[in-house]
Parts: sequence; C-alpha cells; structure tokens
Amino acid sequence: MARIVMKFGGTSVGDIDRIKNVARRVKREVEAGNQVAVVVSAMSGATNQLVDWCKQMAPLHDQREYDTVVATGEQVTIGLLAIGLQDLGLKARSWCGWQVPVRTDAVHGKARIDAIDTTEMLAGMEAGEVAVVAGFQGVAPGNRIATLGRGGSDTSAVALAAALKADRCDIYTDVDGVYTTDPRIVTQARKLDKITYEEMLELASVGAKVLQTRSVEMAMKHRVRVQVLSSFEDKPGTLVCDEDEIVEKELVSGIAYSRDEAKITLIRVADRPGVAAAIFGPLAEAAINVDMIVQNVSEDGKSTDLTFTVGKADLDRAKKVIEDNKGQLGFEGLVADANVVKVSVIGVGMRSHAGIAQKMFHTLAGEGINIQVISTSEIKISVLIEEKYTELALRALHTAYGLDAA
Ligand code: ASP
Ligand code: MG
Repeated sequence: MARIVMKFGGTSVGDIDRIKNVARRVKREVEAGNQVAVVVSAMSGATNQLVDWCKQMAPLHDQREYDTVVATGEQVTIGLLAIGLQDLGLKARSWCGWQVPVRTDAVHGKARIDAIDTTEMLAGMEAGEVAVVAGFQGVAPGNRIATLGRGGSDTSAVALAAALKADRCDIYTDVDGVYTTDPRIVTQARKLDKITYEEMLELASVGAKVLQTRSVEMAMKHRVRVQVLSSFEDKPGTLVCDEDEIVEKELVSGIAYSRDEAKITLIRVADRPGVAAAIFGPLAEAAINVDMIVQNVSEDGKSTDLTFTVGKADLDRAKKVIEDNKGQLGFEGLVADANVVKVSVIGVGMRSHAGIAQKMFHTLAGEGINIQVISTSEIKISVLIEEKYTELALRALHTAYGLDAA
C-alpha cells in the first residue's frame, strides 16, 4: 500500500464531466489499495473571474478580502469532487485550507505555507476516506483565509505530500509530461521519463510552465517525488526526482527559451570601482531583477560598455531608474532592445563534461545566429539572441545534442 497525493489542475476539473472523470481516476487509485489525498484547483477560468470581480469592485482592494473571494473557486471543486467520489461508492471528505489546517504567513495574495497539520485528515485517510483538499489556500495568522499566488495549487499538493510523507505526488494536467523542449516548436521533442529537481527548476524558471517554480523548490527541499502526467490519457508521465534515481543521465536534458527578457546596454560607462554597484543597486531597490550581465574590458582604461537583461515587463521602469541616476553613473548612452529571446541548454551532465557550451556556440554559429550575451550556471548555459531566431535555434540545438525523437 502506498500513500499518494493526486493533484488536478483547472482544466482537469473544468466542467462536471471532467470532475466525474477525476473521480473515476481517483477510484482506481483507491481500489489499487492506496491511501489517497486529492488536491484540486478551481474550474478553469474561475479564478480569473474572481480576480476580475475584485478589480471591478475597487482597483486597489484589501488583499485579505481578495483572498476571501478568490479562495472560493477551490471550495466549489472540492465539494463537487467529494460528491462525485461518494456517488461512486467511496468514502470522501472535503477540506478547505483552514480546516486542515494549512498554516501560512500573513502575506495575503501570495502567502507561503509555514506548516500543515495532517493529524485529523490522516485519521480519516487511515479509516479509508479520500481527503479532497482545496489547493491554493491556507489560513494566515489571525484566522484569515490566505491564498498562495497564481498557480499555487501545485505548491499545495507538494507541501501536502511532504507533510503526509507520501510516496508520490502525482500532478495531473493538460500536458502528458515534461518535454526536451517546446513540442509546439520542435516536433521532434521527446517526453522525458525522468528529470532531476535541479533541471526542472531551471526549466521552470526559464519559461517551461508545467509546474509552478515554488512547488519544484519545495519538492527538492523535501525530496518529494513528483510525477507530471495527463489527466486525459492513461499513460506514464515524467517523474521529477533525485539525481540518484536516474541511472542513464543525459548530458543535456532539455532546451528552454524565454521571451520575457529585454536587453539594456549602457555605452561608455566609467571603468572604476563601484560603478557596477551604482548601477545594480538602484535596480535592486526598485525590485527589478537583473538576469544576465556582460561587461567588456575597457580599451582605454577609462570607460567600457555594460550590457544586462531585465524582465520585459520591467524594461520601462529599469530605463527610468538608470536615467534618474545618470549623473552619478556618467555613461554616454542607453540602448534598450526587447527584440531578444533567451535560449538555455540544461543538464546535470554538464557538471562533469567539457565541450557542452562549445557545442552550443558552434551550432548557433552554423546557423548564422549571433550570440549577444552568455551566462552560465553549473547545469545551464544561456544565450541571448535575436528573437526571430527562436525556432531555428531550438531546432538546431535539439538536433545537435541528440535529443530528437528516434
Ligand atoms: N486556481 C488558482 C489559479 O488559477 C490556483 C491554481 O490553479 O493552481 O491560479
Ligand atoms: Mg497550474
């Protein structure tokens, strides 16, 4: 017997038929002799509607009351699913976040989970009852309802799996797993059987939106085995797990891209100590995340060009912050370019193998693609290129690293 947390996202519970389908899927797991807790999201579109209503009521609203409103989407689906399970002859009980309770901090609208007390829920599960738990919500100090930020029910599921010491956390979604790259762009993309937490985290943070990033961090921290699989087809998905569980490690596991970045170049910045701090300090104070940075050695020993990237959504604010500090920084010009894409090659195998970066540069050169900025981490190499080359770069790299489906 295993203890399993199953999580179903918005599209999987998008209408009554789909919720009935989820009930049947849960029943199979129970009949296989497992203890099951199910975490569900709101019906697809429901949360957007609720958020919109809050905005219509007052653009600047109390975040605590926002949470009271948007948490209701999940209350509907847990009740409906519990009814569906009972209708199939199973014992089932719904649990709102405050009933479990899932305790969070006081940051309403994007709260973090502090602790989950599973005592009562577990007693029910041990007596053969399916626990149907509302994702995305918890209870903040002062007994106010809190929500975890958009997409937060992935995190609810992983946190619950950790608290229950579950054998597995199965995340059912509208894709059937994690792919080597975006299958909409590269038809040769393959579904991965397994991927490490570290790789998944890099993929999630550079734009592969299968799991909420925070849920992967939590899975990694608590070593929760997470499986991503389709709620519509009956086949194994992708297991996100510890490196030790992966026998045949690929050098490169995936290629991700993000169109969310923009590039800023400062021309002829003074080349003296403290300048980088003077540029990036005010950006950090304005809560603008800087990702890639390159600085040239100066030819004359006096000035140099400095290039970095920020989120596209932050570009205008970043430009303003820099211009406001121009007096202090003393650069000659600022050039902004939002017409870029960041392409990243990811794999734990590159820790122990040389030549992976070289293959990337060589492949892009072969396609006539100019690299504007490079950054690396232990398991990732990212390059910034002109946006129009996104498809070409992904396809060429996918082939070069031997990732194409046979
Ligand atoms: N219902 C919430 C949202 O739409 C949480 C989730 O689906 O994960 O963001
Ligand atoms: Mg989601």
